[in-house]
Amino acid sequence: MNFDLNIKGKCILSAEDNEVNQIVLEHTLAEQDLPFVIVSNGEEAIAGWQALDPLMIFMDISMPVMNGIEAIKKIRESEAGTGKHVPIAALTAHALSGDEARMLEAGADYYLTKPINPNLLLAKISEILDSNSTRAIL
Ligand SMILES: [Mg+2]
Repeated sequence: MNFDLNIKGKCILSAEDNEVNQIVLEHTLAEQDLPFVIVSNGEEAIAGWQALDPLMIFMDISMPVMNGIEAIKKIRESEAGTGKHVPIAALTAHALSGDEARMLEAGADYYLTKPINPNLLLAKISEILDSNSTRAIL
């Protein structure tokens, strides 16, 4: 995949394989001021993370090629020892008990359940990016 490197360090990366959800994400993310990139599986999410150094990642869990859990684990493994920690919010349709723990154990910082609620998604972006900038100032 070719990524627009002009947005490196200042974009939101979102991995989602379902076309309808991609459209919802696209419409929702377009409402905020930051550029965003949508990819459709875990391998592309890792490539996007490496190329773009995004401010945060929304990661669907069920995806082809590489699922979100594997992608989160690989990102956290790569970050180990670097002092870096990209905020990751997992998105899942599975409301089954135990799923939340599985996502957090893999290294997700937050999780949102589907169907995607645009208001909650935008609120989560504000929450994550605000807390990050606060951390940077401190
Ligand atoms: Mg999916």
